[in-house]
Amino acid sequence: TVDKERANNVAKIKVVVRKRPLNKKEIAKNEQDIIKIQPYSNYLTVHETKSKVDLTEYVENHEFVFDAVLDQNVANDEVYSETVEPIVPLIFHRTKATCFAYGQTGSGKTYTMQPLPLKASQDILRFMHETYRNDGFQLFFSFFEIYGGKLFDLLNDRKKLCMREDGKQQVCIVGLQEYRVTTVEAIKEFIERGNATRSTGTTGANEESSRSHAILQLVIKRSSDGSESKPARLVGKLSFIDLAGSERGADTTDNDKQTRMEGAEINKSLLALKECIRALDNDQGHIPFRGSKLTEVLRDSFVGNSRTVMISCISPSSGSCEHTLNTLRYADRVK
Ligand code: ADP
Ligand code: MG
Repeated sequence: TVDKERANNVAKIKVVVRKRPLNKKEIAKNEQDIIKIQPYSNYLTVHETKSKVDLTEYVENHEFVFDAVLDQNVANDEVYSETVEPIVPLIFHRTKATCFAYGQTGSGKTYTMQPLPLKASQDILRFMHETYRNDGFQLFFSFFEIYGGKLFDLLNDRKKLCMREDGKQQVCIVGLQEYRVTTVEAIKEFIERGNATRSTGTTGANEESSRSHAILQLVIKRSSDGSESKPARLVGKLSFIDLAGSERGADTTDNDKQTRMEGAEINKSLLALKECIRALDNDQGHIPFRGSKLTEVLRDSFVGNSRTVMISCISPSSGSCEHTLNTLRYADRVK
């Protein structure tokens, strides 16, 4: 069928890199843009230099190739069409898809991630009304975070949640609020509410959000007889994960014990994530999702009919060269 053909044409794993423009702080320090992207190509070069302000004496040029490379002038709409848009029709056909934003703090993860669920839900609601004439389909929304290996509901006063697996390898997050949504406006409000809850955290420090993974899920359910009177069953799921700052995984030698523990947890989860995506790509039977809370929670999105998009966000600045190379190497290993 047409649907099946379309599904086969959407890659199981797609790795995309997005470069943001230099910011005021970087410009004030006279840092330079060291990322070169050939227009309409999918490769980029990192120009590693001895000095952060003088690019003439260089150490090495590092070349990378990805499925897509988005330059600083690429707008959010185009990011959506390159990443999530092709996947949306598939989640009406029992697909579980996940979109990750990876990168150091300040590289543009949240800027990149925020508009995506909104655009996706717009498309989902349109498909429901126009293509499927409602037909019992319902859309649900939830938003939670993983902080220090624990789950907190971002739409219910950071209520602590726990995870359970049923016999059919379905992940169930006990107590997670799932809201049925019928308009894009409602989703927008939920996203804003969740983000506000996330960034203030428990201590009110903005810093906190870079130490947690935020997980926003759009779930499509359908009642068995196509009406709304029967209980609805899960059809497909689209998860958006704004990952903890990748540099946080290196906080394992910090003087503060809490910071050290969180750093170790983040490091563990980002490594486990990489291993799971690689296992997916090789179609290995065994997927090491038990490696961390993050991958355990995403377990049902790693098995069966799944799609994964990794958006790696990078700063163009010479001052971030090392972090940028780490991010690109991570993305390179995932593919
Ligand atoms: P992160 O979530 O990775 O810590 P943010 O998304 O908060 O980073 O981005 C840091 C800052 O850079 C924000 O002020 C954001 O508005 C800006 N920014 C990020 N990406 C872009 C971009 N592609 N174009 C313009 N500004 C951007
Ligand atoms: Mg952020």
